[in-house]
Amino acid sequence: MADNDNDYFKLLDRAFANRPNLAADISDFKIPKTEDFIEGNKTIIKNIAVIADMARRKVVEIARYLSKELGVPVNVEEQRLIINGKFNTDDLDRRIEKYFNTYVICKECHKPDSRLEVMGGGMYNFICEACGARYGVKHY
Ligand SMILES: [Zn+2]
Repeated sequence: MADNDNDYFKLLDRAFANRPNLAADISDFKIPKTEDFIEGNKTIIKNIAVIADMARRKVVEIARYLSKELGVPVNVEEQRLIINGKFNTDDLDRRIEKYFNTYVICKECHKPDSRLEVMGGGMYNFICEACGARYGVKHY
């Protein structure tokens, strides 16, 4: 009887010990900020490769998203994103944040380990590799 109680408390200890780790994993992930500058009539994001790495997406996928969001052509040149038009850093950060919150970070477990599968009807299937959640998000 006493041994069982002991095991029970050990289990409880373990359960509580695991919780802070989980919370730390979630808050450790920070949505990256853009490093950008304006050159003539263009805006260049120079750390797009880092942003894409953190999202586990291809640079061209993020280029396509930003092009649609901003309504202007966006090209990739030597790991830099060249946006047609002048955009300020706050604006670009907001778009990147929206991208991560919609297409990268799982709305169930808030982890960024995800991938997108193209479905019909203008939707992606969002698949979380951390918790297994699946749900539809709008195609961009
Ligand atoms: Zn998840």
